[in-house]
Amino acid sequence: MRTYRVAVLPGDGIGPEVVDIAVKVLEALQEATHTYKLDLVRGEAGVNAIAKYGTNVPPKTIEMLKTTVACLKGPMTTPEEPGAPPSAALTIRKLFNLYANVRPCLSLPNVPSLKPNIDLTIVRENTEGLYSNIEFEVSKGVGVAMRVVTREASTRVARFAFKLADQRRKQLSYVHKANILRRTDGIFNQAVLDVSKEFPNVAVEGYHIDNMAMQLIKRPESFDVIVTTNLFGDIISDEAAQLVGGLGVAAGANMGDNYAMFEPVHGSAPKYAGQDKVNPIATIFACKMLLEYIGEKDSARQMESATFEVLKEGRALTYDLGGKAKSSEMCEAILEKIRRT
Ligand code: NAD
Repeated sequence: MRTYRVAVLPGDGIGPEVVDIAVKVLEALQEATHTYKLDLVRGEAGVNAIAKYGTNVPPKTIEMLKTTVACLKGPMTTPEEPGAPPSAALTIRKLFNLYANVRPCLSLPNVPSLKPNIDLTIVRENTEGLYSNIEFEVSKGVGVAMRVVTREASTRVARFAFKLADQRRKQLSYVHKANILRRTDGIFNQAVLDVSKEFPNVAVEGYHIDNMAMQLIKRPESFDVIVTTNLFGDIISDEAAQLVGGLGVAAGANMGDNYAMFEPVHGSAPKYAGQDKVNPIATIFACKMLLEYIGEKDSARQMESATFEVLKEGRALTYDLGGKAKSSEMCEAILEKIRRT
């Protein structure tokens, strides 16, 4: 039997609830096929780890992660005081060089969507740009943040995005602000155009970030893969998530060449913790991406169609989708579909 060792970091707030549900769905899928096994190893990370160990990702969690092929990460509260340790997500991205943040946005059955046929994926550069964490106050009241853009990182993320576009509808849009940020986005754009020569079947088109923010509202159905730098990607991927139903259904992957981390896009929503109320689909979709990553594509499809059926029926929807179901009731409805197939 194929076996995959996968790390699970449940996080805090609503994290443990949505992760437990996603794990139940993963277990039901394994039982349904009997062809592979996920060896799920739980680890501590996040705000509770800071209280215990003074760091978001303690050394024993790092050692554990290194023994796994991928990680499912629940949402974690991030302290904002100056001097607080960097977030667990940031630490893990750096540690495993997870340079591409991948955010699919797909119109879902029975979920309000700006257009009925949106199917796009945003690939965001995950290691540099305005998130390089180089920021200082040059004189009192004057702050400067460095936007680092390198040819190497731009080429790497562009190649990742082109490969993805090549497997999909063969359209790649790159997003920048090179009319103002001439040097940094000049480097990014040139890297994209150079990599485009390796993919002659993929159509390429560039957009300014402000125009893309507008086009995503005007004609989101016309986009396939969108690649951009860190901050622009952060902003438009939340915009795109809202086009197709919002945080309760949005999942993301952090991909490197040898490791990947999957997570719901939403945070720890502390006010809903322990209430069995929030939507677990974002975390379930994160697991779907994980299954695709490890190569268990049939289970990924089964997970998706069971979730789609529950959405279509509309009987077990959580509050954010206009229903009254508890998280556990939505989970049970999805499990029932999986068991029946
Ligand atoms: P949040 O995503 O936790 O919650 C914002 C609102 O979105 C909630 O009040 C709720 O109305 C809704 N929501 C979120 N998840 C939902 C779900 N699964 N189902 C239904 N509704 C849902 O954002 P926030 O309040 O800005 O952040 C809370 C904490 O989470 C902060 O400490 C923040 O830093 C952290 N955070 C962590 C991650 C992560 O770990 N990946 C991401 C974003 C925010």
